[in-house]
Amino acid sequence: MIESAENRAADLKSSDHRHHMHPFTDHKELGEKGGTRIITRADGVYIYDSEGRKILDGMAGLWCVNLGYGRQELVDAAARQMQELPYYNSFFQCTHPPAIELSELLSELSPGNFNHVFFTGSGSEANDTQIRLIRRYWDLQGQPEKMTIIARKNAYHGSTLGGASLGGMSAMHEQMVLPVPGIVHIEQPYQFELGADLSAAEFGLQQARLLEQKILEIGVDKVAAFIGEPVQGAGGVIIPPDSYWPEIQRICDQYGILLVADEVITAFGRLGEWFGSTHFGIRPDLISFAKGVSSGYLPLGGALVSDRVADVVIARGGEFAHGYTYSGHPAACAVALTALRIMRDEGVVDRVREHTAPYFNQRWAGLAEHPIVGEARSLGLVGAIEIVKQKDSRERFHKDLAVGGLCRDFCIANGLVMRAVGDTMIVSPPLISEDSHIDELVDKAWKCLDLTAASAGAS
Ligand SMILES: *Cc1c(COP(=O)(O)O)cnc(C)c1O
Repeated sequence: MIESAENRAADLKSSDHRHHMHPFTDHKELGEKGGTRIITRADGVYIYDSEGRKILDGMAGLWCVNLGYGRQELVDAAARQMQELPYYNSFFQCTHPPAIELSELLSELSPGNFNHVFFTGSGSEANDTQIRLIRRYWDLQGQPEKMTIIARKNAYHGSTLGGASLGGMSAMHEQMVLPVPGIVHIEQPYQFELGADLSAAEFGLQQARLLEQKILEIGVDKVAAFIGEPVQGAGGVIIPPDSYWPEIQRICDQYGILLVADEVITAFGRLGEWFGSTHFGIRPDLISFAKGVSSGYLPLGGALVSDRVADVVIARGGEFAHGYTYSGHPAACAVALTALRIMRDEGVVDRVREHTAPYFNQRWAGLAEHPIVGEARSLGLVGAIEIVKQKDSRERFHKDLAVGGLCRDFCIANGLVMRAVGDTMIVSPPLISEDSHIDELVDKAWKCLDLTAASAGAS
């Protein structure tokens, strides 16, 4: 008997409900809302679900499918590598060509004095690695009491215990005894929520100086590092004022603490530069990457290590007692190598900076005219809109209305993936988006804001 596609989808959905525990998901609520949407294939900037619906992927998967879906070169790179050498480790004095070549290419593409890379399987593991590197660095410097890492509220640095500790998501901390000792958080540079009455320049300086206050409060002899995303992603695409990062840099320089840029989202073209640090003039000592490095086709992440840290942690000798079975997985490295070469050879980053981002920024800004939008901000190819009930007072809709979720559901129903973070809607379209895709994204967003307004009873 030939099973119909519909029956097959229904069976899968039911099986998913019975057996598959999803990340960051309320399964009771999911069941009540009719269960999961099954994505069966994808091409370019579109994904297709089991009902045959074509949906514009405004999030590039989860901020990662930067080259879009269906790039045959990436598929071929994986297949070739899997045939030749599907796996070998880089422990015990061994290595393999893909990891070597990718290390070299990353050293070439990265800013300033970065010449070493430690591979991981994910962004979370990259940040756990940073914690280990930071502690090792100060230990070898003869200052083991420099243990405290300063991070920010509402930051996202991953979901392992280390990543979740560095992150500033209270919902994650509450479900464990987190953060682990030695990690503290300062307030974030989120002007729409926290600094509406200040100029952007003043607000940026004020929020950066919280770092200095925290260093002085703890004592510089106890502070090891500061970590931040150049633009906070999962927290709601929070773009700091221009005055913020230079002041953070000044403070890190003045007190000699390590500066870690978590570039898991912002690296590899998202902000129109190979690294977001370049856009903001940040000179980090350590950089975390993942996501876009392989365009999401296979899992890969890592820590880029500057000469300042390498000269101590690597050059001085002694074993760095840290590593993952899949550190530098050959197939993942081969795919990343191909993805980065495509980006370089096709000028993807330049095109984002010179064309796609300016076009997106201009069209996205138009959403600020919508009656329930309090702010529309964007930088490079990330954007956010703040949904409000009252434009001028920035009053939000009642929490119980959950208008962000409402808007997201309207988007999906109308063929657009846009993510909700509370009542903030965010996008991160593939870097290879054409103008027509940007038009489709913004036009659909506007329409879904109309539907949201009507449904929420906006006056
Ligand atoms: C996604 C993300 C991470 C975690 O990466 P995983 O691969 O999910 O472990 C860390 N930092 C930032 C900034 C991220 O966006």
